[in-house]
Formats: sequence, C-alpha cells, structure tokens
Amino acid sequence: MNIKTRGVPLQLLGLEALMRRVVNPNEMVEADLKKWKSGYSGERSLDYYLNQLDDLLILHDLRLSTDAYTYFQLDTLLLSKYGLVILEVKNYQGRITFNDENHQVLRTLHQVEERIPNPLLQASRQKIELEQFLIRQGWPTLPISYFVVYSSPQTILNTSSHKVIHAEALPSKLSQYVQSTRKECLTRIQMNQLATGLKKFHQPPQLKLLQKYNVHPAAIRPGVHCPKCNKLKMAREPRYRKWTCSHCAHQSNSAHIPTLQDYALLFGPTITNEQARYFLGIESPSATKYHLNQLNLHTTGKNRGHVYHIPLPFTLLD
Ligand SMILES: [Zn+2]
Repeated sequence: MNIKTRGVPLQLLGLEALMRRVVNPNEMVEADLKKWKSGYSGERSLDYYLNQLDDLLILHDLRLSTDAYTYFQLDTLLLSKYGLVILEVKNYQGRITFNDENHQVLRTLHQVEERIPNPLLQASRQKIELEQFLIRQGWPTLPISYFVVYSSPQTILNTSSHKVIHAEALPSKLSQYVQSTRKECLTRIQMNQLATGLKKFHQPPQLKLLQKYNVHPAAIRPGVHCPKCNKLKMAREPRYRKWTCSHCAHQSNSAHIPTLQDYALLFGPTITNEQARYFLGIESPSATKYHLNQLNLHTTGKNRGHVYHIPLPFTLLD
C-alpha cells in the first residue's frame, strides 16, 4: 500500500519551470533536468513491481533530517512486519561494473568508460542515517536492509553483490529476504504508526534554483504558460475569466494555477497581489484578488504585507 505516494519531485518541477521561463537557459540546467527526468521515469517503472507486493507499506521520496542543517533522502522505503528495506533506484543505460575490492563502480556506454558514485555505499550510508534517525525518535532498533535497484531492463550488471538487482527481480528478492529474516518485529499497527511518524518528519527540499544556477530574477519571464503548448502566451478574457493561448488557441479556466506553482518553485512559497499581477499579466488588482481568493490559499499579513501561501506541489485538474 502506498502511504506516501510518488509525486513528480519538486526539483524536477522546478527545473521545468526554470527552463520554461529563463531567458537564456544554461547547459547545467538542461543537463540536470535530463538527469531528474530519467531518475523519475526509472522510479515510476519500479512501481509496476512494487504494486505486486502485499503486506507492505511504501513511502516514496522521504527526506529526513540528520541534524539541524543536513538531510538524507530515501527514494523508496518499504515497511514490512520483518523490518525496513531501503531501495536506492538507479536508471542507467550501458554496463555497470562493481569492483568489490576498491569499491569503484564503472559505467561503460558507447565504448566510453567513466567512474560513477558507488550506490551501495550510498545505500549503506542511508541505512546508518535511518537507524540513527529512528533511535533519535525513540523507536526500538529495527532490522534495516537495502537494495540498489536498476530500473532499466537494458542495463547490464556486472557484480557479485546480491544487493544489486534489476527491478524485475525485486519481488523474489523481497520474498527471500522475508524467508531469511522470519522473525516478525512490527505489528500492523506499529507499521502504520511508524509510517505516519516518518511522513510527519518529511522535509520538502528548499530549491533555491536561481541561486544554484546563478540566474538573476529579472531573467525569469512572467506570463501564464499554456498547458498544451507550454508557451507563455495565455491571455485572460476578463468577461469569461478564462485563459486563451494566442499560439495554439487552447482554452483553460485554471492555467493560472501551474503558473503560480512556477512562481513558488522559483521565487518561494508566498506571493502578494502585486507580484501575482505581474507574473500572471493581469492589470486589475481586483481580478487578481478574485483568482487568488478562489484558490482558498492560506494567507498572512495585512495591507501591503498581505501574502498568499502557495502549497507545493500545487496542481489542480484542468
Ligand atoms: Zn498553447
């Protein structure tokens, strides 16, 4: 059962917003966007196998604090009666070779060999961080295992480690794990309590993309983007309170919502009426107020300090 469902990662949504709006996209943004897209598609393809498993609670994209300033992130965490299993999901093409002696991992693709970070070390570090986190939260010591899962069936794996597997081997690997463990350490109620507790401690990432990619706020183009053609070409028809794209003629009642999400992803989670007017390209303060009030957003402050809080992710069906 999915307790914390897999959504599109905020980093991916943020990079898409940046690519859509920045005047001159730099190569690093493009490369990172590609990386996040591939990672997300790999994780989604794992869901097919995860859905075949019973008696598990599944938490996706869990980001927990190590201390006041640092965090660790788990792609997928499985909770079972027998303990916890961390899945570190990788979506790589080519041949991946693990060297057990020096812990080096090499990837070969199109006859080019490169060294990549060792995901087994990454997963074992996550295990230690999760153990310490649970101790800090007062949970008794629980068995925690981990697997590195390659989501693409085309990846050729060259390793002797039983912890490195293809996604299709996941169901049989987990049943082997249960058989080897046998000892139940959590009741169903405790599993639910633990899952709820972990979800409560989840900390969404602070994106700070403009800072990270050294983009000046003035280089971000305002305007409502079209959900169909992605161009910033939607204009509001005041009489009907809907948006029409001057590029592809698509019409929408809610195109301002993903645009407000872009704003929050790039500039932070609060917006004033004036900022929304600029970003949505609406002249009238009362029309802007109408749209913002329709969304039932949490608000704080008074007069010029009155701000609307935009939740992330923030999407409604068009
Ligand atoms: Zn369009």
